[in-house]
Amino acid sequence: MDASDMGDDLERVLLSEEQLQSRLDEIAAQIDTDYAGRDLLLVGVLKGAVMVMADLARRVRVPVAMDWMAVSSYGSGTKSSGVVRILKDLDTDLTGKHVIIVEDIIDSGLTLSWLLSNLRSRGPASVEIATMLRKPDAAKVEVPVRYVGFDIPNEFVVGYGLDYAERYRNLPFVGTLAPHVYGQ
Ligand code: 5GP
Ligand code: MG
Ligand code: MG
Repeated sequence: MDASDMGDDLERVLLSEEQLQSRLDEIAAQIDTDYAGRDLLLVGVLKGAVMVMADLARRVRVPVAMDWMAVSSYGSGTKSSGVVRILKDLDTDLTGKHVIIVEDIIDSGLTLSWLLSNLRSRGPASVEIATMLRKPDAAKVEVPVRYVGFDIPNEFVVGYGLDYAERYRNLPFVGTLAPHVYGQ
């Protein structure tokens, strides 16, 4: 799917496919430097992180394993509350492992803050965070993020894994939707 398949649903492209992919080249190179000589476990958070996980993992040269978690964040409407339930847990024992949590976007930071302390309690050698997108103006808690693709304005975005009502995840770019899509 690309912009030409979206009719007039797309408002504007925030980050092009080229921008996303070349930033991932840089992040992968940084990870190769930081994790040289170590085995790395990439933990993707379903479903949003599928695209960034697939593209980042293919660029990294150090040996990686991949595992997945699915979590649901309770909250009113579209706001996350920080109360998190695990829908699918890891298959991997984290004891002694070097872990990078791979995320699509950090908004309030509440989900990730919970996830970080949950994974840290499992005895890993280290836990870092890589996210494609971050909204600094939406932060409710400070989360130490080692690898950030792009800081973006506090707007609702779709594409590159991110959905609106389960649509638009397969866009290769990140964009905003026209108001009529939300029924306005
Ligand atoms: P947080 O706990 O950081 O507020 O919530 C993070 C989750 O909320 C993300 O993993 C994502 O699923 C969802 N989210 C936050 N901002 C956006 C956005 O702009 N667009 C979409 N599609 N989802 C978002
Ligand atoms: Mg996510
Ligand atoms: Mg969603």
